[in-house]
Amino acid sequence: MRTPTWTCLDGGYFRDGKPPVIGILTDSHGRKTTDADRLGTIAHELGHFDYARNHSQHQPFVPPGNPTGTSDRQIEHRRGSEFVRRNVGRRLADEAHANEFNAQVRDEFLRSTDQQIEVSGVDKGPFRTLGPKRDVATPSEA
Ligand SMILES: [Zn+2]
Repeated sequence: MRTPTWTCLDGGYFRDGKPPVIGILTDSHGRKTTDADRLGTIAHELGHFDYARNHSQHQPFVPPGNPTGTSDRQIEHRRGSEFVRRNVGRRLADEAHANEFNAQVRDEFLRSTDQQIEVSGVDKGPFRTLGPKRDVATPSEA
């Protein structure tokens, strides 16, 4: 089975193989990434690693199946829609966990160094804060 790779906003990724791999960008959207960008990406991708090791057993990855149908088009449509339906909950939970993990690392880093790191996915919307206040929903708030 192909190893799932989670490619995230702004291009970081986590590939859960042997060994697991985290990738970060040195350039993003035409500019050099900063230490804060890269630390934020690493924290986010570590959240995906933590989810894969400690939380994914409740919603395991489901590979594409082999549905039947009356035409190739119908079969491929069913294969795609079943794949999305069976995996969307896991992906959302995984991404939420990675953002929460990222926010926890940001909070701890800020407390110990008085410096900010990025939280992937919250830097362009209305939820951005520059303080230690948590701005990503926790599972109990969802
Ligand atoms: Zn992610």
